[in-house]
Formats: sequence, C-alpha cells, structure tokens
Amino acid sequence: MRLAIMGTGYVGLVSGACFSDLGHDVICADINEQKILALQQGKIPIYEPGLDEMVRRNVEQGRLSFTTNIKKAIQDSLMIFVAVGTPPREDGTADLQYVFSVAENVGKHINGYKVIIDKSTVPVGTAARVRETVQAAMTARGAHHEFDVVSNPEFLKEGAALEDFMKPDRVVIGCDNVRVRILMEELYSFFARNGRPIIVMSTESAEMTKYAANAMLATKISFINEIAAICERVGANIDDVRQGIGSDRRIGYEFISPGIGYGGSCFPKDVKALIQTAQEAGVQPRVLPAVDALNEQQKSALIEKMRTYYHDDFAGRTFALWGLAFKPETDDVREAPALAMAAYLLKAGARLRAYDPKAAEPAAILLGHDAHIEYVDHYYDAAKGCDALVLATEWSFFRNTDLARLKQEMKTPVVFDGRNVYAPALMSTFGFDYFSIGRAPVLAFSQASGAATSPG
Ligand code: NAD
Repeated sequence: MRLAIMGTGYVGLVSGACFSDLGHDVICADINEQKILALQQGKIPIYEPGLDEMVRRNVEQGRLSFTTNIKKAIQDSLMIFVAVGTPPREDGTADLQYVFSVAENVGKHINGYKVIIDKSTVPVGTAARVRETVQAAMTARGAHHEFDVVSNPEFLKEGAALEDFMKPDRVVIGCDNVRVRILMEELYSFFARNGRPIIVMSTESAEMTKYAANAMLATKISFINEIAAICERVGANIDDVRQGIGSDRRIGYEFISPGIGYGGSCFPKDVKALIQTAQEAGVQPRVLPAVDALNEQQKSALIEKMRTYYHDDFAGRTFALWGLAFKPETDDVREAPALAMAAYLLKAGARLRAYDPKAAEPAAILLGHDAHIEYVDHYYDAAKGCDALVLATEWSFFRNTDLARLKQEMKTPVVFDGRNVYAPALMSTFGFDYFSIGRAPVLAFSQASGAATSPG
C-alpha cells in the first residue's frame, strides 16, 4: 500500500521505517525542513537502536523517502498517518494544533478516497473533529471525495521502538465502518499472521485505550515510589519488597522499579490530559491527580537526600551527573528527571560534570548555556575530582562500573543513585557513602573518616 506518514519524530520515523520494511511504499513528510534534509542525506535525527540501519536499507530499496511536500505526500497515498506531536498546554490539555493542521492539509489536497489514521495520542472525540476539519477544508474548495478517519494509537517504547512496532502486544484499531476496517486489517495482516491480536473497537474507545494504558503504567510507577518512601521510614528494603510482590503473577515485575520518577514525552502529558478529559466529562478523578503529584515530588527525592547530606550547602561543590535522557537507550530528554535535578543543583550554586552516551546534545539545548555545567565524553571522566556522583538514568553499563576506579577518580566517595543500580552491601565494602531509593543509606565513608553523621 502507499502510505504517507505526517510527522517524522520518534513515532512517525519508526512507523515509516517499519512499514517500508514490511514492503509498503512509504513517504515520510514533515514541516521541519532541517529534519527532512538530514534524512534525505542519510542522517537520522534521533537515536533509536537499529533505526539507522532499517532506514538505510529501505531507502536503498526505494520503498522509503522523505519530503516537505505535504501536498504530494497526501495526493500520492491511500493511507495518511498522523504522527505529529500533541504536547501539553499550560492547563494540561493536549495541544491539537498540529493534528488539525494535518487534517486541514488533507482537506485542501485530497484527490480521491483516503484513510486518515491517527497514531498521535489524542483525547477522546478527536477522530470526529478531524473528520469535521477535513470535510470543512474540502468543502471550502468545492471538492467532494470520500474518506475515513481511524484511530490507531501507538504503544511503542523509545529505546525498543522497532521491536515494539514489529512485535506489538496488540494492535488497536478504532473505526466506524466495514470498508475501512477491511483496509486496516489488510494493512496489519502481517501482524495477525504472526499471532499479534488485532483489536477493533470504536474510535472513542481506541483513543481512550491509549490514555488508559499510559495512565496505568504511570500509576504503577508512582505506586512503587510511594511504597519505597514508606520502606525508607520503616526499615524495609524496596528491592526485597519488589521481588516479593512482582513474583505474584497478578502483579508482575514490570513498571515496579523505584526511582526518581517517570519522564519523557508521554506519561506526564498523558496523565495530565486524561485528568482534563475526566473533568470535562464531569468526573472528578482521584487516582490520576495523585499519580501526577507524586511523580512531581519524586523528581526531587534524591535532591532531598542531597540537601540533608550537605546541609543545603551546594555552593562550590562539584557533582558528576550520570545520565541525562529520561530513560536508557534513548536521546529523548523531554521531562527527564535528570534535567530537573541539574537545574536545581546549578541554581543552588553547584558545578556539574554531566555524561550521557546519547543525550548530551539535546540536554544542552534544553538546559541552555551555563558555564557551570560541562558535558564530558566518558563517565569516569565525569567523576574526576567530584564531591559526589548523582546517577539519574540507568544505562545498562553503569551496572558494571569499576567501583575501585570510580572511588579513585572522585574527591570524596559519595553516590546518590536515583535508579538503585548498585547493591548497598557492595558500596559499603568499597567504602562509599551511598544513597538510593527505598533502601537504607550506606555511610561507610563518613564512618571511616570519622564524621559523626554526615559531612556538612
Ligand atoms: P515528535 O515531537 O518526536 O515528532 C513530531 C513531528 O511532527 C515533528 O518532527 C514535527 O516537525 C512534525 N510536525 C508537526 N506538525 C506537522 C505537520 N502539520 N505536518 C507534518 N509534520 C508535522 O513526536 P513523537 O514523540 O513522535 O510523538 C508523536 C505522537 O505520538 C504524540 O502524540 C505522542 O504522544 C505519541 N506517542 C509517542 C511515543 C513516544 O515514545 N515518543 C509513543 C507512543 C505515542
């Protein structure tokens, strides 16, 4: 099938690459000229494992191309995917201007039957509004063509996006007539043949499914973070508790790792948008605002430990900051807890030596120029001469840190670990002061150096 993907970000580019890999003819369109130019030159604007190879292969085989010519992309395609951003507005509602701009473009340029497929995460009722927008733009130019609007939310995870797209737990299709249902089932027939459930429902239910899925995952994270906070106060160990509850098949291990909160471009905005949807519908949500508020608070969980340890005196101290992305295996820093911590520490007068294997550049853009933060190329380098290490993103190789070397590089062996990467007993053996989430602190360095409680 001939497919156009509107929006060449994390979702659009991955969808375009994967559909072309399945043999479809795909044209990826974006209004960002720089992005398209880079893609045309073979440069991939985001980091996603395996994506560059897949894009290159399909471009070479002539099934994947990139354009800023929105009109041509629409006119040459049967199916038009909407994969543009839906960022939060001030009040938490989803900003749908990019979605409606695509709908308007379709109305302006439609030249025959089209299927408009919404992959962006949008509030319930958006498919109906997209239909109206296309219709209005088409009528305004005196044109009459048939079209269908489908909701087909995307569930991929950044960092494992190709695998998630190609082997989804399910494909959700929201549509309201048989004609388009048959076309969508044909588009996804490869997935059905490989045992992946294709779940067909109304557009409203499909739109709601995406929000409910993200809200559920965010709830699990905030829940375990609350349990971790209780563990710290009552002398329980969250690692043991996680094992104890995760082994229950009704609960499972996923999304119950404690940390410094969820970030990224989806969970924070989707929880907020669902709260707004609920309120507009006359429902006063109770769980969702708590999930959101707890997550905001959790971003400073490690900072609070640092404030106690340093008696609120950060001036003149230097910290290594390991990890800037909102999670490992991505360069996405949107709403990253690491950036919130960096901003706090810089404002408090600290210096930072930051390291992330993929996200230093986007982080530097968001944090803005600050002479007190230096981005370094190696994580041991970042630790050189530092008062403490702050670990904010659990890149897998951090787990195998040479702790003896780390200690040697640092001015004082103190680690604040926001992702529970290290075993407290090991940190104690190596003589670190070590603080993590939901586990008792280790004060091996303070005790050995004779400091009564903690250095001030
Ligand atoms: P993104 O910000 O990475 O990319 C959006 C792209 O759309 C940008 O390149 C932008 O230039 C382009 N764009 C804006 N207006 C356009 C227009 N009128 N025509 C063509 N292109 C236009 O966004 P993303 O992270 O890929 O997210 C896209 C949507 O998918 C959001 O609704 C998001 O909530 C949802 N989603 C994201 C993920 C994820 O992991 N990032 C996962 C599932 C769903």
